[in-house]
Amino acid sequence: CGIVGYTGADAAQGILIEGLTRLEYRGYDSAGVAIEQDGALQVVCRKGKVSGLVHTLSHFDFAGTCGIGHTRWATHGRPSEANAHPHTSCAGDIAVVHNGIIENFAELREELAARGHAFKSDTDTEVVAHLVEEAYADVGDLQAAVAHAAGRLIGAYGLAVVCAYEPGVIIVTRKDSPIVVGRGERGSYVASDIIAMIDATRDVVVLADGQVARLTPDAIAFFDEAGRPLDPPVTHVDWDL
Ligand code: GLU
Repeated sequence: CGIVGYTGADAAQGILIEGLTRLEYRGYDSAGVAIEQDGALQVVCRKGKVSGLVHTLSHFDFAGTCGIGHTRWATHGRPSEANAHPHTSCAGDIAVVHNGIIENFAELREELAARGHAFKSDTDTEVVAHLVEEAYADVGDLQAAVAHAAGRLIGAYGLAVVCAYEPGVIIVTRKDSPIVVGRGERGSYVASDIIAMIDATRDVVVLADGQVARLTPDAIAFFDEAGRPLDPPVTHVDWDL
């Protein structure tokens, strides 16, 4: 339903919470975040309102400066903590948030399970975390791994992915589901709706189907499906809330 992400100079936790709160109007049944912290991914999910997630996060107060967050509108798998995003790889070193529906998830899940992947949720989304994990083991590069995984997907997706071994990096891509990215003074932002990052920047790139963006604290780089660099147009948003 809603995606947010931030990598920059500041702690990600508060920025993700603010973004998720801004996305609440869309409706959702659960919410969660993955934040990089001391070389690992900390994943916290809650069924219900963002305020419940905020309460739990207040006990941790993560200082990590890169993370992704999600509000879920369940399509596959009931609303529950286990089915809330972010979804993770077997080793917990890759985390994925997803908007949309992966239509071929049942085939992919069967294929991945046959290769030894254990699944923790009933969602269509979780296959993406495992596909990225396998590709990452092959190529050792998150951007290439996400592009490879996306190539296996049939359906609609906005995706944001982080990996414990690539600190400060968020890879995003989309097909038939909105993703916008933008640079603020204090870092790089991604969201499924500009409203989640309007306080940080009004100059955004609306990702086109198949495009990939690589967010780092100081820059955002754009690529096509094949990994060739792109220079997509920047849209200035001048409306007020
Ligand atoms: N299909 C995914 C799920 O059910 C994502 C739903 C959404 O866009 O929130 O978990």
